[in-house]
Amino acid sequence: MNSKLQHDLDNFENILEKTKQQGIDFLSNINNIPTSTTYSFDPKTALNELGLGSIEALKEFNERLAPLMVSSSGPRYWGFVTGGSTPASIVGDWLASVYDQNTQSVTSQGGNSALIEFETINLLLQLLELPDTFLGGFVTGATMSNFTSLAVARQWFGKQYGKDFAKNGISETINILTATPHSSSIKSLSMLGIGSQNYTVIKTIEGNREALDITDLEEKIKALNGKPFILISSAGTVNTADFDDFEAIAKLREKYNFWWHIDGAFGGFAAVSEKYKHYVKGWEGADSITIDCHKWLNVPYESAFYLVKKEHVNLQIETFQNSNAPYLGNPLENFNYLNVLPENSRRLRALPVWFSLKAYGKEGFIDLIEDSTALALHFANALIENDFELLAPIRLNNVCFTLKGEHNQEKVTPFLSALNDTGKVFMTPTVYQNKKGIRASFVNWRTNEEDIRIVIKEMKDLLEII
Ligand SMILES: *Cc1c(COP(=O)(O)O)cnc(C)c1O
Repeated sequence: MNSKLQHDLDNFENILEKTKQQGIDFLSNINNIPTSTTYSFDPKTALNELGLGSIEALKEFNERLAPLMVSSSGPRYWGFVTGGSTPASIVGDWLASVYDQNTQSVTSQGGNSALIEFETINLLLQLLELPDTFLGGFVTGATMSNFTSLAVARQWFGKQYGKDFAKNGISETINILTATPHSSSIKSLSMLGIGSQNYTVIKTIEGNREALDITDLEEKIKALNGKPFILISSAGTVNTADFDDFEAIAKLREKYNFWWHIDGAFGGFAAVSEKYKHYVKGWEGADSITIDCHKWLNVPYESAFYLVKKEHVNLQIETFQNSNAPYLGNPLENFNYLNVLPENSRRLRALPVWFSLKAYGKEGFIDLIEDSTALALHFANALIENDFELLAPIRLNNVCFTLKGEHNQEKVTPFLSALNDTGKVFMTPTVYQNKKGIRASFVNWRTNEEDIRIVIKEMKDLLEII
């Protein structure tokens, strides 16, 4: 063994102890750590001939790299829909590295830790009140979940023409209908060879909505003259957290032949609360659903899952099977994750989620979801009182707003830039209905009313000088 490795092995406990202490220092100070930094360095150093060992590497990290660390898992990082890391999720995440399992199989002698993933998906189905007619698995993020789901949809589409696209490539024009897809669905269309421009846009409901207009959807379906199609629908659009009408879509499925995908990256968690579950009523009829865990479930990156109806498992295996050998036996009995999703090797991504669900239970997440939505409303009210205007009503946890008055449109970008520079808060720019806007998304478990007070004060101060 290399001497530096040997030295680290002999000092493992001390190394982990120091790392733990560093974690505690960061996490206990997270409210004061800025949400942005101007720190930078030339990202090149010579590779050491002789290693430093972990403790010295940690020192160098702390001197050169650690100043880049912003409080993206802290309470005032409201850009992008960014969750945080709860204590239980960190336990699971750390242990996933410690145990470093091969999570492919549920039956293999080389390890069957995929059973943990089965159990975790089952817990998630209970949390979201979805039936166990879905088979799920963990991927890095909602982008990969959309990709996985739409890849199975692509295979389904080929089958409607008696073709196997996974084997022979795409030989038919794939019809995609969607109203307000997330950019990652469009990226998935590009990665899947369908084409990022090859989709038909459904009108949205009139009156400041991002949800699809059912009448227009049905007209566009009729224009396809009975041809199959894939519908990409939304449970929570990023700008305004709008939801398509899933009960109406479910009715259309009785008449027309299509694959129904729902992107519920964060909005799917509406299902957890009695107050908001009406938004997702009927969603169990979908063929596939995307949900992110590193957003509202507050586990560290990278964590999301897909749900695909069990009845499609053969299409899924045709799409992702890792060898040309025919799949032997019942795929649900002889199950291996490497045959149903893009990656072969994966970490034990289920573990942070398993710990979170066990540690906080259903009530923990009901409270988290309802606290977030209450804070969004609270922030929105404070904005209205302070010379800002909402660009959309608050449906859930996202606040889309701008500076009041047409003449202030040109100030939106410098205002946001100066606000983010304070390091007190981070929000993302957006354009909504041709207006420059700002988006704040509430999903972090630590955020409270004091954070809103701090941010509103910064915003008021800036308004006076910008
Ligand atoms: C965040 C988000 C995505 C992309 O998720 P990643 O986890 O960043 O890959 C997709 N769809 C919606 C609706 C989202 O909010």
